[in-house]
Amino acid sequence: MFMFKHLFFVFILMQMFYTSPSYSQEFSKEMTSTHTPELMKFYEYLHANPELSFQEFKTASTLASELKKLGFEVKEKIGRTGVVGVFRNGKGPTVLVRTDMDALPVLENTKLPYASKAVARNDKGLDIGVMHACGHDLHMTNWVGTARILLSIKSKWSGTLVFIAQPAEEIGAGAKAMLDDGLFKDFPKPDFCIALHCDAARPAGTIAVCEGIACANVDSIDILVKGKGGHGAAPHTTVDPIVLAARIILDLQTLVSREVNPLDPAVVTVGSIHGGTKHNIIPSEVRLQLTVRTIKDDVRKQVLSGIERLTKAAAIGANAPEPEILIRNNEFTPSLSNDIPLTRRLRKVWEEKLGKEAVSTREAVMGGEDFSRYAREGVPSCMLFLGTVPKNKYEASLMSKNASLPSLHSEYYHPEMPISLETGINATVSAVLDLLKN
Ligand SMILES: [Zn+2]
Ligand SMILES: [Zn+2]
Repeated sequence: MFMFKHLFFVFILMQMFYTSPSYSQEFSKEMTSTHTPELMKFYEYLHANPELSFQEFKTASTLASELKKLGFEVKEKIGRTGVVGVFRNGKGPTVLVRTDMDALPVLENTKLPYASKAVARNDKGLDIGVMHACGHDLHMTNWVGTARILLSIKSKWSGTLVFIAQPAEEIGAGAKAMLDDGLFKDFPKPDFCIALHCDAARPAGTIAVCEGIACANVDSIDILVKGKGGHGAAPHTTVDPIVLAARIILDLQTLVSREVNPLDPAVVTVGSIHGGTKHNIIPSEVRLQLTVRTIKDDVRKQVLSGIERLTKAAAIGANAPEPEILIRNNEFTPSLSNDIPLTRRLRKVWEEKLGKEAVSTREAVMGGEDFSRYAREGVPSCMLFLGTVPKNKYEASLMSKNASLPSLHSEYYHPEMPISLETGINATVSAVLDLLKN
């Protein structure tokens, strides 16, 4: 009897050792929680020390040293301030995990104990507040936490990790800078790219997934409307660029409403108009700044050429000199499309890891994200959206318009911590493990 019991026990033990466990048994939410206290200190440091686009010097070196400590081969200054870390762990696919690093020219008003007091000088020589108002500090902490956990369980996966810290997402220039600097030539070209972005309209502890188009094409356009200045009391001796600019702005409103197929989303916004100095002087020029959002590339072409045509036509009608129209191609951000098979595969992983009720579907938005550049190089890519709003505030916002939530880029925005961070790490680690499972 004793022998039998003994053998039975040995049999159970053998079962425990020889049944190969799935990755989800190896990587637990509890594992993430053990990293939380250290990561929260790291997050608060990043939040208190934001840097503007292409000025992420301290941020980049902090992130580079985190990867070096873990044993990554690290190269800095890729695409000006970008960081690339490579960790080879046997045969298998290559997965790129991206964080962005830059903050915004916003004076923080969150009253958090670790709120930013940082000030930077802008290109007009003015001192301005700087704040992580888009959650990139959380993205970076998620990135470091993911790297720490993956390296602590490296016998559970095989393949190559490429961790990149990208500069200048806010001006749509950082991904292009890194690619132009050899990201996909001098380092292992990824088979998959993944990233996350904070979502200021969803509850913390949840994520949202978007299949296919997730973000829009973004173009910035400057228009210099030219006239002939003179006395405000003698308009007949001038060509008034203020009246002309007003006509151009109204004409542009017909582009989306009358020319673009109503089933194709497009936005033309004139966000800035500057001209003149005094009541009784007709100036000689007016400056307009536009943002243009489209989804399809042929609609983008149609809208951009429509802006040129309508602007020039209005000037001809006013007998004014030809306006100067500058489409800022170096600030163009292409639309982001999440690879559908990859997104469906990861959604299953996330539903298993976080629970079905924690994963929702997100519609495309007309915002921009230069993570799209990696997908446009032909690499299946997926960006997930991370809920960051305290549950009670989220519920209050559904009940009353007065309880509306601060959006990304608001001086009041900050993610609920540490739940948002832990949810992000659980999602990112489980995605990488699925892509690199043995
Ligand atoms: Zn942003
Ligand atoms: Zn952002």
